[in-house]
Amino acid sequence: MSKFDSPDKSIDTHAVRAGQERTGESEHSDPIFVTSSYVFDSAADAAERFSGRVPGNIYSRFTNPTVRTFERRLAAMEGGERCLAVSSGMAAITALGMGLLKAGDHVVCSRSVFGNTVLLFQNFFAKFAVETSFVELTDLQAWQDAMRPQTRFLYVETPSNPLTEIVDIRALADLADSHGSLLVVDNVFCTPILQRPLELGADLVVHSATKYLDGQGRCIGGAIVGSDDLIEQYLYPFLRTGGPTMSPFNAWVFLTGLETLPVRMKAHCENAMRLAHWLENRSEISRVYYPGLHSHPQYALACEQQMGAGGVLSFELQGGKDAAWKLIDATRMLSITANLGDVKTTITHPATTTHGRLSNEERAAAGITDGLVRIAVGLESVDDIENDLETGLG
Ligand SMILES: *Cc1c(COP(=O)(O)O)cnc(C)c1O
Repeated sequence: MSKFDSPDKSIDTHAVRAGQERTGESEHSDPIFVTSSYVFDSAADAAERFSGRVPGNIYSRFTNPTVRTFERRLAAMEGGERCLAVSSGMAAITALGMGLLKAGDHVVCSRSVFGNTVLLFQNFFAKFAVETSFVELTDLQAWQDAMRPQTRFLYVETPSNPLTEIVDIRALADLADSHGSLLVVDNVFCTPILQRPLELGADLVVHSATKYLDGQGRCIGGAIVGSDDLIEQYLYPFLRTGGPTMSPFNAWVFLTGLETLPVRMKAHCENAMRLAHWLENRSEISRVYYPGLHSHPQYALACEQQMGAGGVLSFELQGGKDAAWKLIDATRMLSITANLGDVKTTITHPATTTHGRLSNEERAAAGITDGLVRIAVGLESVDDIENDLETGLG
């Protein structure tokens, strides 16, 4: 639990109330502090604050009250001591690397992570002599075999995109722990409403606030949640110096987004579950990937580890790429975009978009076939979503 909030409150209450500090104006809603710097009472006061001996705002690259409210709210919801808000999900992963890694360090990363995350480790951190081993998400032996004395952290997304594969977070946390490494979990797909990695032993949680935390596809932002020690010692110093700061306006959008996150995630899960069942009964579709289905190979683990199956599913069309493109092009309501975590349902063809840069062999190894379609189920009526898909299926 965040030190700012009493641990006996439920996550629904944290979503609405955690982190708010009213100003002298008695406002009910959270204000936006649009200011780049802050004034001091005197030269001596300025000197004290700059030295760090006296806490307080100096400059909005470091701290801003609106950003802080968002950070406290998300920290309380993830059950972490502290949160650091940054300018995007990728900025969060960059901060992680810049703050935690040094030349000679090693990272073990799931092969099934966000494409830009792979590029960041492979093309950029590699320039600073940080080596990354990529392993099969669900193969615990592969994770174990990849560990080295120099392994600083393990990096994972669960469920994976787009095949919704799941890894046992507690098992990976134990593995990291036994090697003196850290476990970092990208919790974008589940959000703290459906999965709380810190409670399962992870050390840090990474977020793209751009997705479900905003929930309506408006702003770009990111965050890292973890212990006070890790954030204060390694990550906050990079934010302060490197400058991937979240804007107060975006923080305000996200913190009001958090207020409705519990109800939205519940609705995303219900809609996705209904759509998954409908898709499973279609003869044109050979397989549906969704952790809420009994047919999911890790259904039991999903039930144990997650509080809900999430809003993203994918499925395999018998007719390959032609059938997939025909289905996508026949939709009239669904948005053709690779984004997710929006109230609007989105549909995408991973093989030619998000995973288009992979070679044919890499794509085959990752299970991204030409007939695969991913849907991030939004909050429209499921009947209308089904009707929109019906046209292109038949
Ligand atoms: C979108 C996304 C990111 C990157 O976040 P941005 O806000 O786009 O920088 C990282 N991880 C996952 C799982 C994502 O979906």
